[in-house]
Amino acid sequence: MTRPHWTSFRLQHKIGSMKFLVFIVIVVSLWYVMRWFQQIETGRELHRRRMSERRGAGASQKAMRATDTVICSRCGTYVPAEFPTACSRADCPFPGVG
Ligand SMILES: [Zn+2]
Repeated sequence: MTRPHWTSFRLQHKIGSMKFLVFIVIVVSLWYVMRWFQQIETGRELHRRRMSERRGAGASQKAMRATDTVICSRCGTYVPAEFPTACSRADCPFPGVG
């Protein structure tokens, strides 16, 4: 090293403080990104909850409508009266699909 010791020390100090600044900037930006992601996640969670609530209400309405079932006299399973589906038994009274 031909350079005087104090110059290299000052240079290193400068680089060190710059690194520190960069570190702070990275930490702050990371914190912002994390907050941003959390906000997105919270929004998604709220959306999901609302959707599931709506879906649950719809399902219960469907279930109330689905009480309109008939029982198969052969296999003893409940099938929707609107769209009765046949079981694998050949003597099933319901025609089924196909
Ligand atoms: Zn049947």
